[in-house]
Amino acid sequence: MSPYNFERTYDKWKKLVFHANILIATLSLATEVGGTLILYRQNLIKQTIPVYMLRYLIIPAAFNYSVILAGFFLMKKKKYAGRRGDYIPLIQLLILCTSDAAAHHIFPIVVASLCFPIFVSSVFDNPKMTRNIWLLSHVGILAVALQRKYDEIHYGTECEYLAMDTFVAVSLTLAAYITCRILTRFQSEKKQIMEEMHQYELQLQEELNKEPQTKLYNASAFRNKLYRETEKSRFTEWPLMLLILDIDDFKQINVTYGHARGDKVLERIAEVIKKHFKEEEFPSRYGGEKFTILVREGTVIDLKARTEALRRDFASQTYAFMEEPVTVSAGIAEWKKGMTDEKLLDCADKALYRAKEMGRDRTVVWCDAYEKQ
Ligand code: GH3
Ligand code: MG
Repeated sequence: MSPYNFERTYDKWKKLVFHANILIATLSLATEVGGTLILYRQNLIKQTIPVYMLRYLIIPAAFNYSVILAGFFLMKKKKYAGRRGDYIPLIQLLILCTSDAAAHHIFPIVVASLCFPIFVSSVFDNPKMTRNIWLLSHVGILAVALQRKYDEIHYGTECEYLAMDTFVAVSLTLAAYITCRILTRFQSEKKQIMEEMHQYELQLQEELNKEPQTKLYNASAFRNKLYRETEKSRFTEWPLMLLILDIDDFKQINVTYGHARGDKVLERIAEVIKKHFKEEEFPSRYGGEKFTILVREGTVIDLKARTEALRRDFASQTYAFMEEPVTVSAGIAEWKKGMTDEKLLDCADKALYRAKEMGRDRTVVWCDAYEKQ
């Protein structure tokens, strides 16, 4: 699982874009108030003040804040909680920009604001969404053009460049779309690099946890795992068993056949362990010829049966350099309430010691009686 939770990131940015929309609606109102004051001082307001205020201040502000409110409630809805909900602040921004553009006569400049939602969509790293917002921006341009035409018919506002202005607006939004696609691709590439880095980190971590000769987990990884698992059992009381395996008379193999051949035996037992126990059971090389396995599934009897199967398998292995079979002894301890990791390890070790004492080549399950010895 990647630690980079992009879903959470998009969720955060969805809210940030929504907050930016509130700012934009407020900025638009403030600009309108400022513009009205400028026009008033210059005596350029053609309508009566109430009509002007209604048309350029009250209606647009009421409309913009209604759009903000609608978006707010929609974003709260469960069915828009996922990626679909990312559209809400973008469409909201598109409507805000369209309403602002429609309320003004400096058409080519203002209508270009429809590029904003296209740019902002790059945040969500979704080329399809960017394309849809771009396509929707044409609806905005059309709405503004119709508004201009309406003004021409009803108020006689000049708009001889309407066709040209609309054409420029369409071409500007296309340019915004193309630029945004580049941004989106850049974002995707960055995301991919981050994921690759994470995979690499995981691989590195895995290599650090493994012991190079047998490719089993190393002692320090085992100790950490043992601590985590006993802690887990302490809270949940889930069963946990520790199995320790130790090759019998291994020193003798080294002495008789040499260290390099002893290594071959070590590699062989690692293979047999991997065959009988799962990776999740954390097979580890705890020491020279000592191996550990942590088991949660089944009972002690089941584990003993699995251990016996492994021991039989290992004893039946043949080696090019020696005739006699190599055996292994095993100690099993079961986690009991109140046991620490140290204690569990100690109990399994005692069981193993007992197996050695009893003549090796066997499995012993730890019992309280060994404590008194
Ligand atoms: P027991 O049955 O009581 O376990 O006897 P043993 O001989 O197996 O145990 P002992 O602890 O006396 O000896 C373990 C030997 O394992 C000693 C050490 O040289 C050898 N050993 C430890 N690590 C390696 C290794 O990586 N390669 C080889 N070839 N030998 C190793
Ligand atoms: Mg040994």
